[in-house]
Amino acid sequence: MAYQFDHILIRYGELSLKGKNRNNFIKQLYENIKKATKSFPNLEIERQHDRMYIYLHGEDPIKVKEVIAKVFGISSFSFALKVESDADKIIEACLESLPLESSKTFKVAARRSDKNFPIISDQLNRMVATAILKNSEWKVDVHHPDVKIVIEVHADATYIMTDRYPGAGGYPVGVGGKAMVLLSGGIDSPVAAYLMMKRGVRIECIHFASPPYTSQNARDKVLELASQISGYQGDLLVHIVPFTNLQLAIYQNADESYAITLMRRMMMRIASGLAKKRNALAICTGESVGQVASQTLESMQAINEVTNMPMIRPLVCMDKVEIIDLSKKIGTYDTSILPYEDCCTIFTPKNPTTKPRIDRCLRYEDRFDYESLVQECIDQAESVWVHPQKEEEDLF
Ligand code: ATP
Ligand code: MG
Repeated sequence: MAYQFDHILIRYGELSLKGKNRNNFIKQLYENIKKATKSFPNLEIERQHDRMYIYLHGEDPIKVKEVIAKVFGISSFSFALKVESDADKIIEACLESLPLESSKTFKVAARRSDKNFPIISDQLNRMVATAILKNSEWKVDVHHPDVKIVIEVHADATYIMTDRYPGAGGYPVGVGGKAMVLLSGGIDSPVAAYLMMKRGVRIECIHFASPPYTSQNARDKVLELASQISGYQGDLLVHIVPFTNLQLAIYQNADESYAITLMRRMMMRIASGLAKKRNALAICTGESVGQVASQTLESMQAINEVTNMPMIRPLVCMDKVEIIDLSKKIGTYDTSILPYEDCCTIFTPKNPTTKPRIDRCLRYEDRFDYESLVQECIDQAESVWVHPQKEEEDLF
């Protein structure tokens, strides 16, 4: 049915609440939609104060829909048909665009925002319904129709729509500055990245790899996850940090029970350095209170102590089941559960401390020149651009 429609109508939703930022938001949303749909050369996007219209000009609406559904800042969207504000034209358009050969129940809901239009809504409803009943086997059902035909009459044009799809919600990526997300190969951090982007924050990712203790498979898995979430902002830069030397130094110089805490402190120092280099304003992780030894409040305090960058933990109070549900929704779960080792898992101590003391962290760190190792990690990080994966048919 959708193939008959000539454009997509986009509603902003949450945007409307933000009075003075509104213009910025709409501009960013427009840019983001343009970027997300750049592989559809015929599209034309028109931006208005309260709506946006994407004219399809022959592009496949279903493929465009898939891309649009991931753009934050859109509350809902519909396939629509734009016609002249004239009763005959409206009726004709409805008859042409609806799949009348099938058998369905329907309801017509017309709204006149142009009060000069000579026909009142009720009457227009009846006229359209009568035409449909005459030309098909369709039946009216005002309570639970299969198809709800919405007709909006404006002065300049009339819009006809039959379905409303939920948008991705949130704010357009880019209106909220930039953050560095620590992306492991696990379930949690891709979800944290998604939630961060949803708030309008553009992200770059940092991944700590410890070759040869971590494999090429583990690295590929992280890049795959990054590609899966990149659709929410168009593309994504991943910084892969060679972490082996620093990790080995920690194990040589500290009590084993402090290894994870110290490793995390080093991660934060490196992330802060990379954030400064890349003009990012915050660090974001997939930590959740109490989930593992290194995620107690005591641990978080010891980890935060090395940086004054804001630490954002979008999952901090979420249950694992809620996080898993979200990871399934955004499509990262199946990749996250692939069994490749992470730099944290290979060096996991038998009894990690759940209540690390900062004075002990400092004492261990005094034993070796971690600053130059941290600097080396920052300098030697490899930056890789990832993009949303094209569907297979596009590869040929
Ligand atoms: P995840 O599922 O995201 O791996 P987790 O529950 O396994 O999280 P940890 O392994 O303790 O928890 O990691 C906590 C957070 O630290 C991760 O969510 C991630 O943000 C960061 N992190 C852990 N390991 C790495 C890594 N190798 N590279 C980048 N970030 C990491
Ligand atoms: Mg992990």
